Amino acid sequence: MATKRDYYEILGVDKKAPVDEIKTAYRKLAMQYHPDKNKSPDAEEKFKEISEAYAVLSDQNKRQQYDQFGHSGIDMRYSQEDIFRGVDFEDILKDFGRGGSGRGGGIFDIFFGGERRGGPRRGSDILYELSIDLGDAAAGKKIELEVPRTENCDVCHGSGARPGTSPKACSTCRGTGQVNRTQNTPFGRFMTTSTCSTCRGSGQIIDSPCTTCHGTGTVQKRRKLEVKIPAGVDTGSRLRVPGEGEAGEKGGPTGDLYVEINVRLHKDFIREENNLIMEAAISFTQAALGDEILVPTLDGKAKMKIPAGTQNGHVFRLKGKGITSLHYSGKGDQLVRIKIDVPTKLTDRQKKLLQEFAEISGEKPRSKGFFGLA
Ligand SMILES: [Zn+2]
Ligand SMILES: [Zn+2]
Repeated sequence: MATKRDYYEILGVDKKAPVDEIKTAYRKLAMQYHPDKNKSPDAEEKFKEISEAYAVLSDQNKRQQYDQFGHSGIDMRYSQEDIFRGVDFEDILKDFGRGGSGRGGGIFDIFFGGERRGGPRRGSDILYELSIDLGDAAAGKKIELEVPRTENCDVCHGSGARPGTSPKACSTCRGTGQVNRTQNTPFGRFMTTSTCSTCRGSGQIIDSPCTTCHGTGTVQKRRKLEVKIPAGVDTGSRLRVPGEGEAGEKGGPTGDLYVEINVRLHKDFIREENNLIMEAAISFTQAALGDEILVPTLDGKAKMKIPAGTQNGHVFRLKGKGITSLHYSGKGDQLVRIKIDVPTKLTDRQKKLLQEFAEISGEKPRSKGFFGLA
């Protein structure tokens, strides 16, 4: 966070507010922004912000530190996890929503995205870009994908240790993955927390690594899976396939796979939402006399009647020949815009007939070459 807002301002309380007033203010705001109740995209951020303010201001030492040195006093002394340590959110929030349980590890998950350093970690999500034809987007299709992803190593079951052995807790950090260091600064002595360099934050040391995964616990695989593309998808549509992302660490859950659709351009149609738009060229005699023509549709050619006297630019609507709606029942239409081709080369006989046509219609050709101008 680039510039942090003042904690008192966030909770809307006075600098001298007693603890129970801070608690009441926090409860009120938490009701409003708890991600279980408030589904707006910034509710979670807001909830984190008010919870952090509460965590600091409800603790006498942290509050004193904040009053004296501001945000830098807190940030230098406490890790994000330390800020929340010791705060009984479960007690404060027990009356509404999920309180503390649910979504795996409880309210802590909201602050740390379900990750506790050194503990199980959820696997990453994978974004897979899939290009499909307009016809498949319109009708829907089962498509087999081959997704490269990390999976838990079968040989060591994700532990990273050779079968028959097991990882030991790191002695430098005693398995926490972090080391604390005391630092002298102009503000006094501060404890800083950093990632343990011996175990690189994992909290574990593997003496004899698994030879298949070289101690990482994961292997790269190409996984084949079938996804069902629903009818009506468009470029930018995303399908979520739960549990098909990267493997979690240390028994954490697998991430999700997101398939992002790109619909290729079609030679005949332009898509506008669920309608298909195309242009059909007809001759001026077809337009004048009427005809029946064949037009391409997504399911083969279809007959379309051109009534006598059809004008250039007229749009005919083929009901239900468009794309199935992804969100509602029903289908779009196919719109056929008529373009009348004016011949550019005429034989002498054709010219003669057209001149005759013009005369009968009461037009007066200015010169014999009138139709030959093009
Ligand atoms: Zn292995
Ligand atoms: Zn360590």
